[in-house]
Amino acid sequence: MASGGITLTPEQLQELLAGAIKAAIAPSPEDQEKKDELKRRAEASKKASVDTMMADHQAKLDRQNRCDHKKENGKWATGGQMLGNGVALTICQHCQKGWYWKPAPEVAAQLLSGDLTLHQSEPPRTTLN
Ligand SMILES: [Zn+2]
Repeated sequence: MASGGITLTPEQLQELLAGAIKAAIAPSPEDQEKKDELKRRAEASKKASVDTMMADHQAKLDRQNRCDHKKENGKWATGGQMLGNGVALTICQHCQKGWYWKPAPEVAAQLLSGDLTLHQSEPPRTTLN
């Protein structure tokens, strides 16, 4: 007696199941649209953050380039200290521009001992940055 059933090879069955699973887990067009929209928003937000950071950075550079690093009384608006490895940092207290530099060994020794400070000192002409 004929069964009337469907006969599948194991390979066909596997292919059928794989197709069914793929269809079952595939997002609906609406879900895909939502996902794409979220992705677009995330990318737009990321780009806006980067743009803001770049603009802030440029504004800081512009401010530093405009600054004469001096106080109203004409004295340098700087401070600083030895960082180690013979490197000193002088920084402008108005615009936060920093200069990394290597003082001569005797100057470094004076800075380290506290006999000399970088308070209101002229920014170095030769820098590491
Ligand atoms: Zn400055």
